[in-house]
This record gives sequence, structure tokens and C-alpha cells, in this order.
Amino acid sequence: MKKILITGGAGFVGSHLCERLLNENNEVICLDNFFTGDKRNIKHLLSNPFFELVRHDVTVPFFAEVDEIYNLACPASPIHYQHNPIKTVKTSVMGAINMLGLAKRKNAKILQASTSEVYGDPEIHPQPEYYWGHVNPIGVRACYDEGKRCAETLFINYFLQNRVRIKIVRIFNTYGPRMHPNDGRVVSNFIMQALKNQPITIYGDGSQTRSFQFVDDLIEGMIRMINTDDSIIGPVNIGNPGEFSILELANKVIDLTNSKSEIIYLPLPQDDPLQRKPDISLAQQILNQWTPKISLEEGLKKTISYFEKLLQEDKTL
Ligand code: NAD
Ligand code: UDP
Repeated sequence: MKKILITGGAGFVGSHLCERLLNENNEVICLDNFFTGDKRNIKHLLSNPFFELVRHDVTVPFFAEVDEIYNLACPASPIHYQHNPIKTVKTSVMGAINMLGLAKRKNAKILQASTSEVYGDPEIHPQPEYYWGHVNPIGVRACYDEGKRCAETLFINYFLQNRVRIKIVRIFNTYGPRMHPNDGRVVSNFIMQALKNQPITIYGDGSQTRSFQFVDDLIEGMIRMINTDDSIIGPVNIGNPGEFSILELANKVIDLTNSKSEIIYLPLPQDDPLQRKPDISLAQQILNQWTPKISLEEGLKKTISYFEKLLQEDKTL
């Protein structure tokens, strides 16, 4: 039985990871400060004797006996990470230092949840891992993008200097049940708006693209990555290469929910990337033929069912 620490474990992705790793007979410590996480995401795990919930902030050192660490703690949606940009940088950078220090002391494997945002507004399409990116270091997204880039720098240098057993995955837009209903991300926004027959808010003209990955495909990729041998460190892209414009996404959500919502157009936020699509050839090569299996339509249906239930349970949403 492995002892696995998941920082940000009460968040959207983290809660799925906790569940999957417990199901595979591991002992899981879920560490979270509940900034964007929610106890409801993990309440079904609390009765499991091999699950432990710790309220803690990753900017403060943490000590535990662990074999593996998944470092996910960081707000991920633009409205949340821009709410307190200095704290976002501290979470990424000090969180990485504290978790890498723990991995070093315990000789634990450590996986960093990095992001496609390290590519910024990319000039190369699709984005391979060797692309260095196009990031505005002083823009509104910089606290997240540069924080995550610095975390990658720390990971690589703990590997080079101290031989820490690191893994870096660059996650592309991921969606699914347990996304925060008010986190402002496009999939949760559109589904909530459609289910409430409120206007669907497209920022810009809707021609910007994203590639949407269902959460189960991401979890599979992350677990395969941490189980690779120590010579494989990444970074590796984990995403679904299916590329859709935001207008296409809006129309799909309207169709699948039979919504009466109209589409309205609002200004495009500063530095909003125009296009994004992962090149996943490296992941397929090193992760034992890993490939995303869930289509956008199938994943949206599952996510819509989740939000329908949430709206029935909580009339204040
Ligand atoms: P989320 O906001 O649902 O989860 C983040 C979790 O981290 C939350 O539970 C939050 O409370 C916790 N957290 C934040 N700051 C913390 C701190 N200082 N100390 C302890 N806990 C803290 O977001 P998510 O979508 O689940 O993202 C998880 C990770 O994956 C993040 O690191 C994010 O950058 C990365 N990622 C996600 C996506 C995506 O599309 N979902 C894409 C790229 C990268
Ligand atoms: N977006 C939109 N309407 C919304 C929320 C987001 O048009 O209500 C757009 C946003 O401008 C961006 C894309 O959808 O172009 C994806 O936004 P999200 O915040 O989900 O992720 P990110 O920009 O970080 O990829």
C-alpha cells in the first residue's frame, strides 16, 4: 500500500484523483486550504479509513511520511487565480518549494500539475512540449502562467541538483463533474447558463479555440505518468486534441440541454489565448499508448447531469 499526498485534493481534479487512488488500494492524504475546493467533493471518502483530510496551506511547509506526491494546489480558473494574484504566485512557487523539499527528504516521487498556460497565447499550433511559449509576464494571467512556469523551473532544478524523482504534466482545459459551478470557466459557465435558460456569454466573437478533455482521461494520464520509471520526467502534454471554437461549444451545450438560452457577446478579456490544442505524441509514446477516450459530447452529457443534480439540491445556485 502506497502513501500518497494530493495537494489541492478537495478541488475538481484532486477529488477525482483521491477517489481513483483509494479505489486502487492506496492510502491517501488530501491536503487543501479550501480556497476553491469544497468538502462536498470528498465527503463520500471521509468514512474510508485509508483517507485523511488535512486543512493546510501549501505556502507553509508540511511534513508527512509519503511515497508519492501529486502537487495540484493552485486556483485554476481565471477569476479565482486573478482574485489575489500575489497569493497565486506564492501558492505555485512556495507550494512547489515546500512539496519538493518533502519529496527530497522522503525520496518520494512528485508530480506537478502544470498547465497549457505555460505556452501563453501560442504562435505554434498545435503546441508540442519543446515550444517555449508566448507569455505576457505583466498581464492579468501572469500570476498563474509565470507561477506555473517558475514551478516547472524549480522541479527541473530539484531533479538536476538533488535527483528528486520529478514528473511534470502540462494539463490542457479539463472539465467534468465537481467543477465549481461559479468558477467562470467556459464549460461550467455555459452549462449553468443553459440549464437556467440565461444568456450564454461568449467573450469576443467566439472564434477562439480550446481543446476540452474529460477529467477521467486526465486522471488516467497522470497516474500513468507517475508510474513511469525515474528517467522520464516530462514535461508532457495531457489533453484531448479535439479542437472547438467557443461558439461551437456554446451551440453544443444549448443542443444537449435543450436550452432556450440566447447567445450574447461580451468583450474578450486581456491576453485571452486565441487558439489551443495539445500535441500529444509524446504522451502516447511514453505513457503506454495513453489516449483520451471520451468525446466532447459524451463528456458534456455527464457534466450536464452533474450540474442538473446540483441545481436541484441547491436552489441558491
Ligand atoms: P480547483 O480550483 O478545483 O482545485 C485547486 C485546489 O487547490 C482547490 O481545492 C483549492 O482549494 C486548493 N488550493 C488552492 N490554493 C491552495 C493553497 N495555497 N494551499 C492548499 N490548497 C490550495 O482547480 P482544478 O481544475 O482541480 O485544478 C487542479 C490543478 O490542475 C491546478 O494546479 C491547476 O493549475 C491544474 N490545471 C487544471 C486545469 C483544468 O482545466 N482543470 C488545466 C491546467 C492545469
Ligand atoms: N469564455 C467565454 N465565456 C465564458 C467563459 C469563458 O467565452 O463565459 C471563453 C474565454 O474567454 C476563453 C475560453 O472561453 O477564450 C476558455 O476560458 P476558460 O476560462 O474556461 O479557460 P482558459 O482561458 O484558461 O483556457
